Amino acid sequence: MQGLTPLDEARKVVLEATTPLGLEKIPILDALGRVLGEDIVAERDNPPWDNSAMDGFAVRWEDIKQEHAIAKPVTLKVIEDVPAGKTPTQTVGPGQAIRIMTGAPIPKGADTVIKVEDTEHTRDSVKIFKPEARGANIRPQGEDVKKGDCIIATGTRIRPAEAGMLAILAKSFVFVYQRPRVAILSTGDELADLDERFSEDKIINSNSYGLAAAVQEAGGVPILLGIAKDQPAALKEKISHGLNADILVLSGGVSMGDYDFTKAVFKDLGAEMNFWKLAIRPGQPLAFGKIQGKLAFGLPGNPVSSMVTFEQLVRPAILKMGGHRSYGRPIVQAIFQEKFSKKPDRRHFLRGILTREDGVFKVRTTGDQGSGILTSMVKANCLIDVPAEVERLNPGDTVSVQLLSGEMWLREEDVPQTTTSGRPSCC
Ligand code: AMP
Ligand code: MG
Repeated sequence: MQGLTPLDEARKVVLEATTPLGLEKIPILDALGRVLGEDIVAERDNPPWDNSAMDGFAVRWEDIKQEHAIAKPVTLKVIEDVPAGKTPTQTVGPGQAIRIMTGAPIPKGADTVIKVEDTEHTRDSVKIFKPEARGANIRPQGEDVKKGDCIIATGTRIRPAEAGMLAILAKSFVFVYQRPRVAILSTGDELADLDERFSEDKIINSNSYGLAAAVQEAGGVPILLGIAKDQPAALKEKISHGLNADILVLSGGVSMGDYDFTKAVFKDLGAEMNFWKLAIRPGQPLAFGKIQGKLAFGLPGNPVSSMVTFEQLVRPAILKMGGHRSYGRPIVQAIFQEKFSKKPDRRHFLRGILTREDGVFKVRTTGDQGSGILTSMVKANCLIDVPAEVERLNPGDTVSVQLLSGEMWLREEDVPQTTTSGRPSCC
């Protein structure tokens, strides 16, 4: 459509304009969810030495290799006891064994561990009833991590697995990307903030809080600039202040109404604008450009539109700025459960409820899709991506779905008779 930028193109423009921030050093306990800013190279092997995978006896395979062990068990002399945390002092010679616990280093001379369950033993001797392959029950040095290998690459988001690995590699501090600071400004004479006394003719500023949460969820740090009145001077002052942050996100005032001054103020501040309108619904009025080198987004004021456009454009920019290497939500194909029709013009994002039934993803809408109906976002766990050219969807059609949250299986209602069942609920 004329003057409307397709979403894929807009996203490309935004990502091209976005560069990752610098690095900071943080302790491992603060690292969850952060993005690594350095390659983590192993400075030692893990495990650091061959060690026992079982509680048992370290032996020479030559001594226990005979086939009829059950009928003719081998008896070995136990010469030492090595719990985990102790290093063996003796060498296992012919006819000898060392008692060993899981994780303890394999003594010199031994090449195999026999599980304690396959033996009968006293303090000084052990009878072995089961032959084992040479090397059985030994975890070799470096089987997990080899010294010199790159174990976690720059750009990796730190999950519990990475946190554990950092500890294995003795990295108590790591370099991570700085978190983007995102200034959030709501505009509109009709708005009142939560900490104000407001009369019935006011609308509560909900966008600032919804967007702040979305910024946090993307790993950014929200900075609330409050509400600007629909006056160019007020807008200019707040926007100028917001330019101290890495990204400015403004909501409302980007349409063509008499009180929509965003465009004029952006221009006044020397903005290089890339686009003003997006070919999607909800969210057609959408401004993006750079003001004094900072990314500036003017999102539509309607609460759903601001959230959906944030998802599609601002979130990828925050992720890229924060050092991530992929910027999208997980996407799955699902079977649509309803009828839906639209004009074959703009790409639509319907708020959806995705379920998994008998291993198949199924999706239905949350109901009314008006751009002021924020309950549609509250109910949704996904966005249904309906391409621009599509005119109608029927039950059974396959649709592409962007996941907003992962809680769609093993829910409370899927697990009957839990202690939490019967909890009172208003919905
Ligand atoms: P606008 O884009 O300024 O024309 O606003 C469109 C609609 O969104 C209007 O109904 C506004 O009242 C509403 N709106 C704008 N900003 C906010 C906000 N921060 N919180 C809640 N609703 C808003
Ligand atoms: Mg307005």
